[in-house]
Amino acid sequence: MIWQGVIPHYRAYLPVTSKTPIITLKEGNTPLIEATSFNEVIGNDLRIYLKYEGLNPTSSFKDRGMTVAISKSVEDGAQAVMCASTGNTSASAAAYAAKARLRCIVLVPKGEIALGKLAQALMHGAKVLAVDGNFDKALQLVRDITEKHPVHLVNSLNPYRLEGQKTGAFEVIDHLGFAPDYQAMPVGNAGNITAYWKGYKEYYDCGKAERLPKMLGFQAAQAAPIVLGHTIEEPQTVASAIKIGNPASWRAAEKARDESKGLIGYVSDDEILQAYQMLAKLEGLFVEPASAASVAGIIKLNRSGYFKPGSTVVCILTGHGLKDPDTALGEIGGEPITVSASEDEILEYVYEA
Ligand SMILES: *Cc1c(COP(=O)(O)O)cnc(C)c1O
Repeated sequence: MIWQGVIPHYRAYLPVTSKTPIITLKEGNTPLIEATSFNEVIGNDLRIYLKYEGLNPTSSFKDRGMTVAISKSVEDGAQAVMCASTGNTSASAAAYAAKARLRCIVLVPKGEIALGKLAQALMHGAKVLAVDGNFDKALQLVRDITEKHPVHLVNSLNPYRLEGQKTGAFEVIDHLGFAPDYQAMPVGNAGNITAYWKGYKEYYDCGKAERLPKMLGFQAAQAAPIVLGHTIEEPQTVASAIKIGNPASWRAAEKARDESKGLIGYVSDDEILQAYQMLAKLEGLFVEPASAASVAGIIKLNRSGYFKPGSTVVCILTGHGLKDPDTALGEIGGEPITVSASEDEILEYVYEA
């Protein structure tokens, strides 16, 4: 059967009816790729699987939730949708709103959104407003405005977003045939960890899995409100998608952590960037920095002897590396080698050790 998107595939688990118009870009069904070289480097007999969510239509997992949120907005007669975004929510909202022919207004923190994400939101015709303030401030503005005006909020505070995002957990179980021992992911606004935990529990309750994974969430060291137990006024990190000081789903994320007997920890920007390069060079997977936080976290926990040997770990690689070419080129020192059009000169590089 040809894949038709997460709503048609998981309809029985989603809050849609025959009256819901389905707005889809055929999101979901992303590959679960076993890490091979990477396992050798971290030196343990863990089985690590990487769920490459960068292969969704707008290149991040946000599409899973957006298909449900936008479909429900259309069903409810919305004319316009609005969100605050560190980038990927705006790209996804803009694309699905375009498909549904809804107006889309996005608030982004001024000067802080990755180039690819900005290009996406603009190309899809959203009204992109750069706010003088960080993500948390932008989200507060969107909450206040959507409460008072006929504009639907499509941030992850919209419960339909989390309903759609939980399908990632269904796919992990459908692909592996069982629930992993551990599931690792970056945590920003904390909607996704909440959604995955809901998904795992629902599948477990229906008898689709015989156990539940321990949920491992990772924040950036300078943007780690849940780890520290207090809001962060000025969060800082190279991983812009998780640069959030006051997560909307804070309590739900703590619940996922505690019910699953997992943990929420932090990783430094250096650790994130090392994992970022390792994924690209050893596994052939180009992800954005925030996505590498899940792998950085696994490496850190593994060093401390956290994992039982032989455990299965699934890391959610939340977004594509092409979203943020500036960080990639900055890290790698980004210049090709200039050569003359001469065989001899080129052969020096061909035979270089
Ligand atoms: C949104 C996003 C996150 C964080 O997800 P939350 O639900 O906000 O915790 C992580 N990585 C990427 C690439 C994202 O787009």
